[in-house]
Amino acid sequence: MKAKNQTPNHCLSPNEIESRLKSAGVQPTAQRIAICRFVLCEAKHPTAEQVKAWADLNFPKISLATVYNTLGILVQAGLLKEYRFPHTESSVYDNNLTSHHHFLDEATGELIDIEPDQLSVNLKLKPSFKIKEMEILLKGTRS
Ligand SMILES: [Zn+2]
Repeated sequence: MKAKNQTPNHCLSPNEIESRLKSAGVQPTAQRIAICRFVLCEAKHPTAEQVKAWADLNFPKISLATVYNTLGILVQAGLLKEYRFPHTESSVYDNNLTSHHHFLDEATGELIDIEPDQLSVNLKLKPSFKIKEMEILLKGTRS
């Protein structure tokens, strides 16, 4: 679920991925471009293990260490966000770089983006709390 005003990530060509990597200061190796095709385009909130499973089907010979390494580089370069949620031991990687919230479907384990305009929060904190960022995890089921 993407906001209409967000730059569509569906789907970048290998050339676009290459120039995005270059402008972020990341050396565009074939393996990194392959991983980017999945994590910047096709996947929603994958774990490193899910990226590895995709790589095994589509681009064999990428080790789990390379997957972790590449994901770390992409996070560092600001092309992916890394989240840790209580429902999984693994980090999930998010190509939605705008500030947003998440809904965890407890029946399926699926994480769904909740855009800030879909949720309003009325904070009643003392003024001494300086809020820098707000990321809310909603949990439940959908019908
Ligand atoms: Zn998200």
